[in-house]
Amino acid sequence: MATILLQSQSFEYQVKRKGIRSIRLKLLSKKSFQVSCPYLTPDFLIQKFIKNNSNWIITHSSKIGDKKSILGLKTIKILDISYEINWIKTQRDSVIFEENEQRIYSNLAIMSESHAKKVLESKLRPFALKLIKKELTNLSKDFRFNYGKITVRNQSSRFGSCSGHGNLSFNWQIIFFPYPQFRHILLHELTHLDIKNHSKKFWNQLTTYDPKCKYHNLWLKKEGTKLFLF
Ligand SMILES: [Zn+2]
Repeated sequence: MATILLQSQSFEYQVKRKGIRSIRLKLLSKKSFQVSCPYLTPDFLIQKFIKNNSNWIITHSSKIGDKKSILGLKTIKILDISYEINWIKTQRDSVIFEENEQRIYSNLAIMSESHAKKVLESKLRPFALKLIKKELTNLSKDFRFNYGKITVRNQSSRFGSCSGHGNLSFNWQIIFFPYPQFRHILLHELTHLDIKNHSKKFWNQLTTYDPKCKYHNLWLKKEGTKLFLF
């Protein structure tokens, strides 16, 4: 890790040289990022690339929430419902999700942050997919959408995407948002089934599905990724 000052803010960064053809930038936390570049990239070019992208780094890093401790979580809010979470040290990993009692038992063989994350995510991710599919079915009843395959991912900077073939993909962590914002993200991608770009026509159409479209969009830009836990 090296340190660099960008607009009088200090950032840590690491350089990864690999078999790629262009320089790329990835945020690691509020105060650190990674630069990936082709093997033979000279240092001055990397420095120049970072300086040229300092605005992007400052804007996007400020949106990353302070990393929360997973093992320190006592409750997890999923679509406005609070689930009590119990951490239990056991011989074997398992997660018991009592949906109706709003309780999650996380049984862990190793009590570490990264292990807790991995075990809990393995249970919450399929749950997220279930919630997303259920809501998409409901929205389709209301507005008649015709979509393809649904998948969930963990993209730090995106909430969702819509492919040319009508397949939809969502960041599974959108289940940590309040329900209206969660619904807004789904409707955003569903609107892309008809209108691929972000034209005026797109926003008008989305507003017919979600009258508070402007407010939700602004909220997501400001607060969205702060609610990501993983
Ligand atoms: Zn879009």
